Amino acid sequence: MSTKAFHRTTCRLCGSKNLDLALAYKPTALCDAYVPKPIPQEVYPLDVFLCRDCGFAQVCEIVQAEEIYVDYIYETVSSLGLVEHFQQYADLVVSKLNPPKSSLVVDIGSNDGTLLKLFKARGLRVLGVDPAREIARNATAAGVETWAEFFTAAIALKS
Ligand SMILES: [Zn+2]
Repeated sequence: MSTKAFHRTTCRLCGSKNLDLALAYKPTALCDAYVPKPIPQEVYPLDVFLCRDCGFAQVCEIVQAEEIYVDYIYETVSSLGLVEHFQQYADLVVSKLNPPKSSLVVDIGSNDGTLLKLFKARGLRVLGVDPAREIARNATAAGVETWAEFFTAAIALKS
């Protein structure tokens, strides 16, 4: 058993202990942990449990966030159609809220800053918060200030 994860015995949604194994999978490496040649990798249970009280289906293995996100490699811009969706979203937010030009848009889990670039292009100030160090550094270098942090109450007060 990994020290980087723990197994929940209660429902993530309602707290019930009335969970049944619904789908059993082989333990697997974290997604986006692609390696070009087979090497030993940490694997985690991926079994799906069903809560008999609220019906929520869930993976009960909780991997530490640092293990997943600090060296995260997925970038928003690589998802086909997402940039267009974000453009429509930014247009909708700006047209509905008509924020003053000095307004600050904060994106929690901002990844490569794709969404924030669109708000910046519409005259708003932007700030990204994302724990993926390399992605945050690249977003900042590309003009979207991004703090390489997990969003916490302390970070909220800092921004
Ligand atoms: Zn439940």
